[in-house]
Amino acid sequence: MSRAYNFCAGPAALPAEVLLQAQQELVDWRGKGLSVMEMSHRSDEFVSIATTAEKDFRDLLSVSDDYEVLFLQGGASAQFSMVPLNLLRGKKSSAYVNTGIWSQKAIAEAKKYCDVAVVSSAESTKFSEVPTQETWSSVSGAAYVHYTPNETIGGLEFDWVPEVDGVPLVADMSSCILSRPLDISQYGLIYAGAQKNIGPAGLTIVVVKKDLLGGALPLTPAMMDYKIAADNASMYNTPPTYAWYLSGLVFQWLKRLGGLDVIGEINRRKAEKLYNAIDNSEFYANPIKVGSRSRMNVPFTLRDDALNGVFLAEAERAGLLNLQGHRSVGGMRASIYNAMPEEGVDKLLEFMSDFERKHG
Ligand SMILES: *Cc1c(COP(=O)(O)O)cnc(C)c1O
Repeated sequence: MSRAYNFCAGPAALPAEVLLQAQQELVDWRGKGLSVMEMSHRSDEFVSIATTAEKDFRDLLSVSDDYEVLFLQGGASAQFSMVPLNLLRGKKSSAYVNTGIWSQKAIAEAKKYCDVAVVSSAESTKFSEVPTQETWSSVSGAAYVHYTPNETIGGLEFDWVPEVDGVPLVADMSSCILSRPLDISQYGLIYAGAQKNIGPAGLTIVVVKKDLLGGALPLTPAMMDYKIAADNASMYNTPPTYAWYLSGLVFQWLKRLGGLDVIGEINRRKAEKLYNAIDNSEFYANPIKVGSRSRMNVPFTLRDDALNGVFLAEAERAGLLNLQGHRSVGGMRASIYNAMPEEGVDKLLEFMSDFERKHG
């Protein structure tokens, strides 16, 4: 077997151990004579897969019974609508923080349903720095406050949790969920598309405080109503069963590894190595201010953009895939989610240093 190191921002690398387990169970799941993909979502077998996955997810994040954990579809992008549809609850305005492209997409969608106050924006620093809380406008009166703890494209990450004076705090954690310890009790709702740090595309996880449910706007489609999803154990219709199962295997892998403290430390080390190498080089650069840098998505440029194509081609030959930066940023981006082993980052550093020696 030959596995490359895949630095794709999403759909992203999955742990090899998990893929091998899925392969082993693919055709005949635990002697039942069928694949998980072929099971009724109402069968005892699948219900046990689903409830085990939820339990393991709750264990990892210490999610209390005050919260529902929902397994939905539509990606994080569907949440851009579901959050206002469900959480306005009679209020007319919401508060958003703009730290980059994903924040902006969430804001554009929310504007269809309510007044949006952008209480803080990183625009003045060209999205190179998370704006400190002292610079934010007041969030009082807003139905909720929405922010994006990790901007996957720009590579900007909060290393603190906003204070919101009792207003429900909502976070798009698509690219940072399960990457480090998190105190869920500080949030009203968090959501994440699975394809970055959870499992395969097609599944979206929402964790929502129970007391926020039940007030969706009357025109809310049934498929977008959290209360309906919760009342039906995320099986109001057919859920993405295989993605749910595979995500469950990832949760078990994380638990075996030692949970979020352990993976958080590994992730801290991986990112630190990579940023150190970039900062210590005259050839590579990262535009984000120290303290606001993402641990998951590390964008970097080469001194000469004309070398980008050569860099990518040589990297691919060295078994380092998908390092091209987002089209809106250019340059390179190394996404180093949970499933990227530290050896993968070491290999990348070795390659970058060789490349600099050859072309610098
Ligand atoms: C990838 C991503 C999205 C979009 O996710 P989809 O599941 O494709 O809708 C939204 N927000 C963030 C922070 C992301 O990283």
